[in-house]
Amino acid sequence: GMALIEVKDLKKHFPVRRGPIDAILRKPKKYVKAVDGVSFRIEEGKSLGLVGESGSGKTTTGRVILRLEEPTAGTILFDGKDITKLSKEEMRKLRKEMQIIFQDPMASLNPYMRVGKAIEHALEIHGIGDRSSRKEMVLEMLKKVNLEPAEEFYRRYPRELSGGQRQRVVIARALILKPRFVVADEAVAMLDVSVRSQLLKLLQDLRKEFNLTMLFITHDLATTKYVCDEIAVMYLGKIVEIGSFEDIYVNPKHPYTQALISAVPEPTLKKKKKFIPEGETPNPIDVPSGCRFHPRCPYRMDVCTEEEPQLKVVEGNHRVACHLYT
Ligand code: SF4
Repeated sequence: GMALIEVKDLKKHFPVRRGPIDAILRKPKKYVKAVDGVSFRIEEGKSLGLVGESGSGKTTTGRVILRLEEPTAGTILFDGKDITKLSKEEMRKLRKEMQIIFQDPMASLNPYMRVGKAIEHALEIHGIGDRSSRKEMVLEMLKKVNLEPAEEFYRRYPRELSGGQRQRVVIARALILKPRFVVADEAVAMLDVSVRSQLLKLLQDLRKEFNLTMLFITHDLATTKYVCDEIAVMYLGKIVEIGSFEDIYVNPKHPYTQALISAVPEPTLKKKKKFIPEGETPNPIDVPSGCRFHPRCPYRMDVCTEEEPQLKVVEGNHRVACHLYT
């Protein structure tokens, strides 16, 4: 299939704020390499799960792809076109086609605006429809996200809604623009478990209906099960493993992925014994040499501290960056 999104060697390095003493001592500038050479493609209509702990760079990756942050290096192809070259104005036009759904619906909704108006506002900004047709479109969309009776929800304020209902409003506001690509950044993380699965099912249904291409960012591997065709596991700014949902769930290769899988409470998975990586995720300012996972890896070998493993095919589209497989 044709890739709607293709990211090549994407990097985002943030300079670390230095104290005055560092400047006097002429210490070299340090960088947090939040995203450090990430490549992947998402075919039109498919969904890629980007999984990692906080500090893995997954959120920054999503933000950079939408150019909410400027990349340090790399290319981002949207429908074959490199969008890193686009001006602010050209990007503004494209925004309609590339939407983001954030974690906290309360923070992304204006508390003083009725939800119907908030969704309508998105149409207005992009010059879609006229007054009456916009309202019709909003009511239609409210039904699609199961906020019914739509007329009633149209008039409500965000505070009069539950967390799950608010996130439905945010989804409606993103999808009413008929985007082709959506980044969902921890979109269900703040919701109760019961509400979470309803929201995931809704996202999956809408994705099919609108033929949406999606980047689904999450720290919780279990949530990818419902909505992702492929999964990429990130660790300290790099993708360490990428493959189909089955590749990652049933046949994880990278020791870090195996650790993540062993933590998923899923009785149907044939699991090797539970394994929790040693220590904490290192500070992304001081990334370990060689394989970034080596200080925590029970299988580390001499080569692991010296050479950075590259993503290599294990089978089909299943790729892993680990010296155990070279
Ligand atoms: Fe472990 Fe070495 Fe593989 Fe890194 S490259 S995950 S340290 S075995």
